[in-house]
Amino acid sequence: FHRNPGESEFHQAVTEVFEALGPVVKRHPEYVESGILRRMCEPERQIIFRVPWVDDEGGIQINRGFRVEFNSALGPYKGGLRFHPSVYLGIIKFLGFEQIFKNALTGMPIGGGKGGSDFNPSGRSDGEIMRFCQSFMTELYRHIGEYTDVPAGDIGVGGREIGYLFGQYKRITNRFEAGVLTGKGMSWGGSLVRPEATGYGAVMFADQMLRTRGQSMDGQKVLVSGSGNVALNAIAKSQSLGATVLTASDSSGYVVDEDGIDLELLRQVKETERARIGEYAERRGGKARFVQDGTVWDVPGTVAIPSATQNELDDRSAKTLLENGIVAVAEGANMPSTQKATEMFLAGDVLFGPGKAANAGGVATSALEMQQNATRDTWSFDFTHEKLEQIMTDIHDRCLTTAEEYGSPGNYVAGANIAGFVKVADAMLAQGVV
Ligand code: NDP
Repeated sequence: FHRNPGESEFHQAVTEVFEALGPVVKRHPEYVESGILRRMCEPERQIIFRVPWVDDEGGIQINRGFRVEFNSALGPYKGGLRFHPSVYLGIIKFLGFEQIFKNALTGMPIGGGKGGSDFNPSGRSDGEIMRFCQSFMTELYRHIGEYTDVPAGDIGVGGREIGYLFGQYKRITNRFEAGVLTGKGMSWGGSLVRPEATGYGAVMFADQMLRTRGQSMDGQKVLVSGSGNVALNAIAKSQSLGATVLTASDSSGYVVDEDGIDLELLRQVKETERARIGEYAERRGGKARFVQDGTVWDVPGTVAIPSATQNELDDRSAKTLLENGIVAVAEGANMPSTQKATEMFLAGDVLFGPGKAANAGGVATSALEMQQNATRDTWSFDFTHEKLEQIMTDIHDRCLTTAEEYGSPGNYVAGANIAGFVKVADAMLAQGVV
C-alpha cells in the first residue's frame, strides 16, 4: 500500500481479490515465486494528461484526464471512461484492476484498463460536452487502437460522448477504425444489445443465482439504485422477468413506487430531459414518493441491484437489508458494497453476485461489438441477446464451480476472484517476465 498512498478504493479492490487467493497460492506457489501477485498490482502503463477546453462563456477550463492500461495478458486493454468530479487516480486504478478479472471471466480475448476525467458533465451544454470530449481525445488518441486499447462508456459517458470521442479520433487519424471504441451508435459500428447489456446481464445473473435455490426473478420485490444506463436496463429486465421494481435514485435522493416503477416515465425524466429524480415522483400522480435522506436500501425488498457507484451500500444498509429479508444482491455497479457489507451478506447466507461477475455483461457485449467490427458484420438483437445470456450463464457457472473447487461452495466472491485470477496469472506466466 505504501507504493500507492491515498488510493483507498484501489487498496479496497486489491484487498478483496487477494483475500480470496489464499487457497490458490497454497496450491500454486509458483504464482508467488514468479512475482505474479506483485506484477498484477502494478499497471503496465498509466497516462495522466491535461484537458483544456472552452466553456460557453468563453472561459478556459482545465480538467485532468486518465488512462490506466493495467494488464494485456489476455488481449488489448479494455474498459470504460468515467467522467465524474470524484475521479482521481485511485478510482481509475480500482476500476482498472477489477476490469482485469472481470474481462477474464467473460471468456473473451480482452485485457483490463480504465480511464476518465474529473470533468463534471452535469449542467453542461451539448456544445461544452463536445468540446471537452474533443480535447480529451486529442491526447487519448495516441494511446489507443483496436489492437492496443479499446475504451467504452461508464458513469457520465454514454452514447452521446462516445459519438463525440469517435468523431474526433476519426478526424485526427483519418481512419474509420470502428474497433477503437465500443458503445457506438447503431449506424456507425455499434452493436445491438450493448446499451442494455450491463443491466440486463446483472438481472440474468440474479436470476441464475436464485435458481440455485429453486426461485427466480418472477415475483421478486426489487430495489434498484441509480437511474443511469445500468439502472434503467436492470429495471427493464427485472420487469420483463415478472419482478416489481420499487426504487430508483440519483445523487439528489431516491423514489419509492409501490406499484412498480413506470419505466417509460423514468426514461423520459432521466434520459431525455436529464432532470433530477424528484421530477419522476412529481409526475407520477401521487403513486410515488421522493425521499431526500437515506438510501433505497431502507426500503423492504427481496432482491437488490445496486447500480449507481462504488461504496453506495455500507454495513448499515446491509444490516437493514438483512433485517428486511433480502435474498439476493447482484452488483450492477462496480464495487457498490463496502468490504464490511460484502462480509455481512456472505455471513448472512445471501446470494451475493460481485460486480466483476454480475456486471460483466456490458464488457462482454463490447467484445461482441469488437467481433462484429472486425468481421464487418451486424448481428440481430435476438442473436446477440442469446449470446449475452449464454455468457452470463457461463460466468455464473464458472464462479460456482471454482468456489466449490477451492473450498468455498456458494461463495461467488471467491469464485469470481479465483477464476479470473488463475486465467490471467497463467497467461502472464506463459508470456515470461513482462
Ligand atoms: P450513468 O452515468 O449512466 O449513471 C450513473 C447513476 O448513478 C446516475 O443515476 C447517477 O446519479 C448515480 N451516481 C453516480 N455517482 C453517484 C454518486 N457519487 N452518488 C450518488 N449517485 C451517483 O452510469 P452507468 O449506469 O453506466 O454506471 C453505473 C455503475 O455501473 C458504475 O459503477 C459503473 O462503473 C458500472 N458499470 C457500468 C457499465 C456500463 O456498461 N455502463 C459496465 C459495468 C459496470 P447522478 O446523475 O445524480 O450523478
